[in-house]
Amino acid sequence: MKVEPFKNASFTDFAKPENRQAMTEAVTQVRSQLGRTYDIVIGGEQIRCEQQFESLNPSRREEVVGIFQKGTSRLAEQAIKAADRAFMAWSRRPAEERVELMLNVSRIMKERRFELAAWMVIEVGKSWVEADADVAEAIDFCEFYSREMLRLAVPQPLVEIESEETALEYIPLGVGVIIPPWNFPLAILAGMTFAALVSGNTVVMKPSSDSPTIAAKLMEIFQEVGYPPGVVNLLTGSGAEIGDALVQHPRTRFLSFTGSKEVGLRINELAAKHQSGQIWIKRVVAEMGGKDAIVVDSESDLDEAAAGVVAASFSYQGQKCSACSRAIVVESVYDEFLEKILENTRATIVEGNVEEADVNFGPVINQRAQESIQRYIQVGKKEGRLVLGGEEGNSEGYFVPPTIIADIDPQATIAQEEIFGPVLAVIKVADYDEAIQVANNTEYGLTGAVYTQNPSKIDKAKREFHVGNLYINRKCTGALVGVHPFGGFNMSGTDSKAGGPDYLLLFTQAKSIAEKVS
Ligand code: NAD
Repeated sequence: MKVEPFKNASFTDFAKPENRQAMTEAVTQVRSQLGRTYDIVIGGEQIRCEQQFESLNPSRREEVVGIFQKGTSRLAEQAIKAADRAFMAWSRRPAEERVELMLNVSRIMKERRFELAAWMVIEVGKSWVEADADVAEAIDFCEFYSREMLRLAVPQPLVEIESEETALEYIPLGVGVIIPPWNFPLAILAGMTFAALVSGNTVVMKPSSDSPTIAAKLMEIFQEVGYPPGVVNLLTGSGAEIGDALVQHPRTRFLSFTGSKEVGLRINELAAKHQSGQIWIKRVVAEMGGKDAIVVDSESDLDEAAAGVVAASFSYQGQKCSACSRAIVVESVYDEFLEKILENTRATIVEGNVEEADVNFGPVINQRAQESIQRYIQVGKKEGRLVLGGEEGNSEGYFVPPTIIADIDPQATIAQEEIFGPVLAVIKVADYDEAIQVANNTEYGLTGAVYTQNPSKIDKAKREFHVGNLYINRKCTGALVGVHPFGGFNMSGTDSKAGGPDYLLLFTQAKSIAEKVS
């Protein structure tokens, strides 16, 4: 099978009138479909439940985006069984056939790019640019993992001996449970699911209850391209209620989780416990939270650093695992840098309803998040000096304005705990050495960046800044598939490096075969 070398999907330029027009139309089209009811899909069968729940538009809290089935543990069991039944035939399909289907998914996502982005604008409050980047990343995962599968499907290099013919084959694991967060509702769900499917596994997708519509759209695409029944199943419902049944089922072979530390640790613990009839150790890939820092040195371009810190702290309202939530600034440039980030935030952040083209800062995901972020801001006000934000946002949606709190101690609550919102703690340090030490002093280790022009300081960051994704003289968000394999250290997760050359190995097991030559 011949495919072009992988290339990242380009981002849509919304300065172009035709793209603005296309996105405006997509938002209107999606608006006309709000409030529909979506089914659970198990073994190709569409299922409705007695109880349902609503997905709401965080920009307009009264608006129902879609109505979803509240799955039960009985349906969880049914979904695992359906995936299990489909596994044998699917896992034996030649890799090239699986790749072909996968690339059809990519084709449809490209065709429906504006529409998929529009769903995320309305369901999770992403700006046009952020929603477009989410779809681009999903397309990239599809294209990248397809090529990775082709790479793993060819004979692997082994040491040869005369008396035997040998081979190493990467074979699938079995049934996987895919549990994504809401903040990259297409890209992360798609990335974990694509990797599992293209490697020959079958899956149960359990999307977040804050973003089930985009998952239903992805499910429609799988159905449209003709995945056999049971290969992909969609189970909506409360993670807390159906999660355990999915995780504990003896036929569940692996768990692909991305979300908070608390839920990730629980899944890891439950999955480790052997269940009656279970014949494997479940594999858990858990990518979790962050408390990411950008270090600003005295020997740096402060304007660039300010632009990087503001973009990384406030894009998608700070709701990225990679978001900068700590700016660690060397004393000699601290006051000047603080002034620059205030100026930059005021100049670049446009708050409002993200359905409008030029708004780049929308609501946070839900009321619980809004309340939790506001609580952290109250704590932060006591721990430091509030220099921006802190007030209530527009009450039509779950708005929290960009907030900057200066003079924060490295051990303060808002310097240690993941807030997952638009709150930046600014920390003053004596010098660069102290900055790196402070950067490393949380339980997390996901992304980090340093701004310095000094080569020996850059070397020190490369050696000592302990994060899964380190960036030098650029912001700490915006990892690209294939370019920046993504995953964190310590409590940030299992360092799975999504979008990297090692990722599919997590969804496969290697079988060594040796045949005696007579
Ligand atoms: P969350 O942990 O609350 O939920 C994640 C998923 O787990 C959801 O689908 C949820 O329904 C499900 N879930 C909840 N309870 C469960 C249970 N008991 N058993 C099984 N599943 C359960 O996280 P969230 O609020 O959706 O996402 C935000 C978090 O995700 C942040 O901590 C963020 O840093 C993290 N995140 C990490 C990465 C990464 O790559 N490291 C990427 C994006 C987000």
